[in-house]
Amino acid sequence: MSLPRFLVSLVIVGAALGGCAKPPSQHSIVSQPVQATAPFITNSILPASAPISQQPMPERIFSSAHLGGRTLAVGSTADIILRPGEVVLTFDDGPRPGKTNEILATLDDFGVKATFLMLGSAAQAHPRLAQQVALSGHTVGSHTFDHVDLGTLDRQGALDEIARGEHAVAQALSGAGQTPSPFFRFPYLSQTGFLRTNLMQGSVVILDVDIDSKDYYKDTPEAVAQRTLARLDARGSGVILFHDIHQRTVEMLPMFLAELEQRGYTVVRLVPKDSGVFGRDVITADLPDLRGTL
Ligand SMILES: [Zn+2]
Repeated sequence: MSLPRFLVSLVIVGAALGGCAKPPSQHSIVSQPVQATAPFITNSILPASAPISQQPMPERIFSSAHLGGRTLAVGSTADIILRPGEVVLTFDDGPRPGKTNEILATLDDFGVKATFLMLGSAAQAHPRLAQQVALSGHTVGSHTFDHVDLGTLDRQGALDEIARGEHAVAQALSGAGQTPSPFFRFPYLSQTGFLRTNLMQGSVVILDVDIDSKDYYKDTPEAVAQRTLARLDARGSGVILFHDIHQRTVEMLPMFLAELEQRGYTVVRLVPKDSGVFGRDVITADLPDLRGTL
């Protein structure tokens, strides 16, 4: 939690404590389980005599310490193995002003890190926002330049589109001394065996999707959250697909993360095995044609 947010939290705590002078029957009882180990409770901010269960505390204050899970260093697609109860948050198609920055703030509130698969065209249009994502400690990968269905292109055309996207994201981040990670996601999840094999031989980490939130449907934020949670509960863990270009996703995320925490999940942070530095050549359009081997 950044200092300004922490201070804001203290103000909220102070306001909440002010209400403690009222009779207990007038308290709004927080229904969420309160973590007795939270430093906000065990230290001097709350009076020891106050019953913890009756503190009308904003939910977010409790949320930052418990949802953040382990960091998983990934060198290949096969390294992404999650344990039960673990999720990976991914956001595609950004960055987009007014949306991505709101999502960053929410992720920060909950103390979790995500992976952003950026379009080259969007990163090129909003390089500062792309840099803000990387500088906030999130993992940045690519998602082609222009969100083309690669299944509709010939092999060379598809590789060119992927390379163009990756170069544009790298270019955008370079302004802040940052580099993208070698994570890639196929637009529309549309892939071919040729492309998949070719990319993996070039050390690209293809980020598959276990749970599609379908946040591009015109549903309410609540419906998106409930649908995604239901799929996650059925599966037990997984890589979740969101898009940081929709207002409903912005609005859905706080309630979704609060509920994730409530249900005992943790958010795994994906990082490249080589500490964010390319340990490989950037994809080039003249990769060997594997046609004869597939
Ligand atoms: Zn996409």
